[in-house]
Amino acid sequence: MRPETLDALMAIVGETNISTRAADLYTYGFDASIHHRSPDVIVRPRTTAEVSDVVKLARREKIPIVARGAGTGLCGGAVPLMGGMVMDMTRMNTIKEVRVGDLYCVVEAGVVYDRLNERLAPFKFFFPTSPGSAEACTIGGMVATNASGMRAIKYGATRDYVLGLEVVLSDGSVMRVGTNTIKNSSGYQLERLFVGSEGTLGIITEVTLRLAPKPKRQCMIMAAFDSLEAAGTCVSELIATPVLPSATELMDRTCIQAVNKTVGSGLPDCEALCMIEVDGEPEVVEREMGMVTKVAERVGAISVEATSDPKTMARWTNARKSVMSALSRFGERFVSVSLADDMAVPISRIPAAVKAFQEIAVRNDVVIGTYGHAADGNLHTKMLVDPMSEESWRHAEVAVGEIYDVVLDLGGTVTGEHGVGISKAPYFQRERASALDTMVAIKKALDPDNIFNPGKMQDWEGGIIRHLRYPCPDLK
Ligand SMILES: Cc1cc2nc3c(=O)[nH]c(=O)nc-3n(C[C@H](O)[C@H](O)[C@H](O)COP(=O)(O)OP(=O)(O)OC[C@H]3O[C@@H](n4cnc5c(N)ncnc54)[C@H](O)[C@@H]3O)c2cc1C
Repeated sequence: MRPETLDALMAIVGETNISTRAADLYTYGFDASIHHRSPDVIVRPRTTAEVSDVVKLARREKIPIVARGAGTGLCGGAVPLMGGMVMDMTRMNTIKEVRVGDLYCVVEAGVVYDRLNERLAPFKFFFPTSPGSAEACTIGGMVATNASGMRAIKYGATRDYVLGLEVVLSDGSVMRVGTNTIKNSSGYQLERLFVGSEGTLGIITEVTLRLAPKPKRQCMIMAAFDSLEAAGTCVSELIATPVLPSATELMDRTCIQAVNKTVGSGLPDCEALCMIEVDGEPEVVEREMGMVTKVAERVGAISVEATSDPKTMARWTNARKSVMSALSRFGERFVSVSLADDMAVPISRIPAAVKAFQEIAVRNDVVIGTYGHAADGNLHTKMLVDPMSEESWRHAEVAVGEIYDVVLDLGGTVTGEHGVGISKAPYFQRERASALDTMVAIKKALDPDNIFNPGKMQDWEGGIIRHLRYPCPDLK
């Protein structure tokens, strides 16, 4: 990057808020996906005015800008494919307003999810989407990926809470979309356009979020099964009753063994587990616990355990949250990678999907752990790959293609919550074939010089085993 450009950036954000140190550039080239590419400079703005000035400069000099929250994305969204600038939004971390009486709060984009809920806790309100990365991920990143989590079946996804946004557009102008009201029929719902836009249309600087009251009581039921299909059937049968669980987590044998071995979670030794959470008024929770237990027993659970003890619930939840890291420590040479990791199918198709994933694993000689927030049809698979072996990546790539074939045939989507980035781009293009021209036109209209996160989503070309973080050759 030209020294004059670096000087101009320094003049906007201050000397200590840009970096070209090799270690920083290397670190900011990652998110939590399999991909990596170092940027040329990191810029850390503190205000919307600074973001605007940086964008104007980047547009003038045709420098790519990739917005970055906490870098916890699992599909390469924050990886600067074409170098240029990574804009770290974490200094914009002020909770500007909490207006419980109006059911909304206003936050800067770099506020971390858990910090917001800590601030809301004394009011007995929360922003309920509950991603597994809650301790780190930012509200801006959550809006940009339409993040959600284990409670989406009852509480919805980030998009259901976005009332308004402030966004810096590619000419540096600042646009406000949406309102501070719960209802709004005021023309195009442009705030929705930026939900799931993954940094390709503008930089989100401020978010107005709807708030939800916290439930008074929670309890969990753990049901063990002798097949993954039976556990899947339990979820779809449960959803067909009048009980609306606040979470329903599914884990297969590979995941159960991994967390028992590496975290010592003490989960039942079985083929599959369902952890079901119900919440609400105490008497409703009591009644629903009974109804959930009956459904689990009816579909053939080999054991059912219910608890409202906070310590036991925390241990179970922690076991489920540890799956990703536990799988990585499961085998000697293998790491768990996010490939075909986040698809969603109509809820009644879960048993068919999980059965097909198991067959694909055997056919392709790949270890696949299956788990997920199954009540909303969202299944995660993690593949164990030898990251240094081209053959291992090739097996995984074939399995990924077969998994997405099944998911699309079942009427599902390639991503329920993590977004597209790089890792899902070719399959997303297949899923959204009839809308791609419109997406390209929207991108061109809002970002004619293609400075925002270029080369991703609809613009990605080629396979997904590329720009790897591991020293193994890319597969084209
Ligand atoms: C252990 C673990 C568990 C996870 N569990 C879940 C889960 O349960 N549910 C879920 O949905 N996801 C989950 N994720 C994925 C990830 O945490 C979410 O996608 C999260 O929303 C990303 O937030 P971030 O701040 O880290 O964004 P980043 O990873 O920094 O960025 C993600 C995308 O958003 C864009 N972006 C970031 N900030 C802005 C901004 N201000 N303006 C415009 N674009 C922006 C980036 O360019 C990128 O394309 C998990 C990840 C990990 C590592």
